[in-house]
Amino acid sequence: MSLSEWSDRLFEHNVPASASCSRHRPPAVALHAALKQYWGYDSFRPLQKEAMLHAMQRRDSLVVLPTGGGKSLCYQVPAVCLDGMAVVISPLISLMKDQVDALQACGIPAAFVNSTLSPGQRRQVAQQVRSGQLKLLFIAPERIVQETTVRFLQRANVSFIAIDEAHCISHWGHDFRPEYRQLGTLRAAFPGVAFHAFTATATERVRQDICDQMKLTDPAVLVGSVDRPNLTYRVRRRHDTFRQVEGVLERHRGESGIIYCISRSSVDDLSGVLNDRGYRARPYHAGLDSDTRRRHQEAFVRDEVDIIVATVAFGMGIDKSNVRFVIHAEMPRSIEAWQQESGRAGRDGLEAECCLFFSERDVRTWEFLIEQSEAASHREASLQALAAMEAVCIGRQCRHVSIRRHFGEQPDKDNCGACDVCLQETDTVPDSQETACRILSGVFRQGQNFGAAHTVLVLRGSRSRKVFAHGHERLSTWGILKDEPEHVVRGWIDQLVSEGCLERVGEYGTLRITPAGWQVLRGQRGITLMRPRPERHRAPAGLNREGGDPELFERLRRLRRRLARERGVPPYVIFGDVTLKELALEQPDSQDRMLAIHGIGRKKMEQYGSLFLEAIRTWQAVPNPAEDHQS
Ligand code: ADP
Ligand code: ZN
Repeated sequence: MSLSEWSDRLFEHNVPASASCSRHRPPAVALHAALKQYWGYDSFRPLQKEAMLHAMQRRDSLVVLPTGGGKSLCYQVPAVCLDGMAVVISPLISLMKDQVDALQACGIPAAFVNSTLSPGQRRQVAQQVRSGQLKLLFIAPERIVQETTVRFLQRANVSFIAIDEAHCISHWGHDFRPEYRQLGTLRAAFPGVAFHAFTATATERVRQDICDQMKLTDPAVLVGSVDRPNLTYRVRRRHDTFRQVEGVLERHRGESGIIYCISRSSVDDLSGVLNDRGYRARPYHAGLDSDTRRRHQEAFVRDEVDIIVATVAFGMGIDKSNVRFVIHAEMPRSIEAWQQESGRAGRDGLEAECCLFFSERDVRTWEFLIEQSEAASHREASLQALAAMEAVCIGRQCRHVSIRRHFGEQPDKDNCGACDVCLQETDTVPDSQETACRILSGVFRQGQNFGAAHTVLVLRGSRSRKVFAHGHERLSTWGILKDEPEHVVRGWIDQLVSEGCLERVGEYGTLRITPAGWQVLRGQRGITLMRPRPERHRAPAGLNREGGDPELFERLRRLRRRLARERGVPPYVIFGDVTLKELALEQPDSQDRMLAIHGIGRKKMEQYGSLFLEAIRTWQAVPNPAEDHQS
């Protein structure tokens, strides 16, 4: 929708300032009423209410919530409830339009100013600011510090200033942006106005830096858990990329997902194979021209293709809430990267799956890339981060716990019920002790002078030249595990390393038996080895398990896609997946019932309610041919 079109609509459905929130109501009540009326949501996510109350009380704040934690609402709801207009500073130009579209779809007057606007469009926005029509104004950091902008906004009735992606202000963060540095000057320019900073990732140091740089006054600091309970993590050794990836895809037919690879060539290869096999996938990496990248990203955001195969270049600046799976076909470079990339799944709060397939090759690749591309001063830290990621991969600790510990939390729950470890997606090897001893004595007979790859070759009875060169085909341990697949034997060595029975030393990761390993060999210590279950035999994850009719859900999704195309907005701006799922489950037959559905506020009811009611009615009236073939 063009700016002038929406400004017309704005007048059509003009919402008087602070419409839903009479000033006489307690702030918490007003916030809750606005949440329901505009967004159709019934409850706050953790810390949202606290964050919003600080905004209502005009106290500076710093809010740290994970991706999908619902940071945007923390400033959007108070903006609606307070008099005047909130200014939101955001570095992601591509997101601004989507955010404004989404707010307008909820009936909230909002606009953005950035370099993509023509002078005419900018004048139009200025006019709206002057006449006090807007509740939110999104603006890029480099623009807000310009003197003319500051003077202009000083004359407007600014309710508060929110800084999105606030870690960009800090050198210590992972995404420093010079244009953020000047934001500190705003404090003096807007003396009576509260500032609220938001970020997903912030260490103690970055937090302090944000408060200092922004000159926050006695800020309330709210830090949410990094944990995302709706994500199920799985970590597995990679032995057959395509088959393993396909195993995950089979659980998510027709759903949206991202597959990350390290290199551009892996992206191109995998994307090619997937398309050959009938999946709707597009590649995304820095080697593609910007137009192609934009088209592929848009096709994904608009649900026109299901899968994006990408390097880490993909993700910043997409806000798609219904990503149902993230696959790392190769290991990410750090736990931070893993958390951030897999965090792009399940922003809508529904279940989503994050699978990581790793191999030692990935570690070598990253080491190489770090050597090649990083300043010497950064290398040590990068290598440490890489080692921490590898340790999680080969370890058997709950994945949620691993992530939380890494970020300094002390989780109390033992079983998360949402990771490969806690779900026990492995079988115990019946003769674990015996198998472990075979491996350990294999290591011993090789003189404790070889790495895992060679050890596997010998144990599996390989006739490779390297095995013969060392005369290892004559060892009694040669071929002692010949019936086991390579990745399984490799996985057992991982377990022995992670349980401290073997250690890897030196540049080549030479395997050595530790004192604990000797205890196992002597039968003084018990050990249980695990064997991964085959990829495909697991219950499907995702929507259908919740009971909504998948057929109806698909119909509603098509309707949503059509409406989104007609209006030139991403589908989730119309309704999120949670809403469609509830519609498919509840099948409301009246406007009142529809308003009770999650994610349907008054404005969306007015705009789309009858279309969706009609679709549900039609679907109910026509017998479902698929059902005849089932049962
Ligand atoms: P973040 O910016 O922290 O990554 P968003 O603000 O984009 O997260 O929110 C992620 C998704 O969760 C959005 O689709 C948003 O509408 C939804 N959401 C946020 N808060 C709530 C809530 N209280 N109830 C239901 N959905 C919510
Ligand atoms: Zn777990």
